[in-house]
Amino acid sequence: MEEELMMLLRLQEMDDELSSLERAKVELPKRIEALEEKLKEASQRLDDGKAALEQLKKKKRHSELELQDAEAGLKELQAKMYEVKTNKEYDALQSEIGSKKEKISNSEEEILSLMSQIEEAEEEVERQEESFHSLSEESGSELKAQKKDLATLEEKIAIKKSERDNLIAHIPQNMLSVYERISKGKGGLAVVKVRRGACGGCFKSLPPQKIQEIRRRDKLITCENCGRILIWDQ
Ligand SMILES: [Zn+2]
Repeated sequence: MEEELMMLLRLQEMDDELSSLERAKVELPKRIEALEEKLKEASQRLDDGKAALEQLKKKKRHSELELQDAEAGLKELQAKMYEVKTNKEYDALQSEIGSKKEKISNSEEEILSLMSQIEEAEEEVERQEESFHSLSEESGSELKAQKKDLATLEEKIAIKKSERDNLIAHIPQNMLSVYERISKGKGGLAVVKVRRGACGGCFKSLPPQKIQEIRRRDKLITCENCGRILIWDQ
């Protein structure tokens, strides 16, 4: 009887391992997905930062061309000053020169502002690059390990199941039925050890006489409170 009781305890341990493997089968892909998502987001932030920087540089080039045009236009207008004949022509030219000068000054301000925006954007891209690289280094090895775990999980489950089949072939059918029934009703935990004079399942104290009976390991004893099979294993 003692041997059969210890087999039940072993069966419980196997079922615990199996259910934690089954849980991993559900959770591991989720963890992998979350990690990949985090990496993707960091890479997206980096790309967005680079695109924003490019946009600013493009705007600056555009403003520089505008400035060149305005400066050339101003020179032309100033050259025309020597050819004015009437006061009216002079006034009109002066006003054109004035607005050209304003345009130049606006372009110069725009370029200065863009230069400082570009500097900030470059610093931002540098920060994003650093954080992306440290994240991909960190997550890379974690991801690799998790994918490897996932790949071997099915195999581990299959091995565990065949070990379980081997074990239950040696357990008397009536004991196995009791085990399966309790396991079903008690969330997968059918066999518990006595711990500090109490049931290891519901933690209710056991009378000393009952503990003596359990220690003898000559029959199947269940907890009066939770109904689980009690085993002495210390
Ligand atoms: Zn109990």
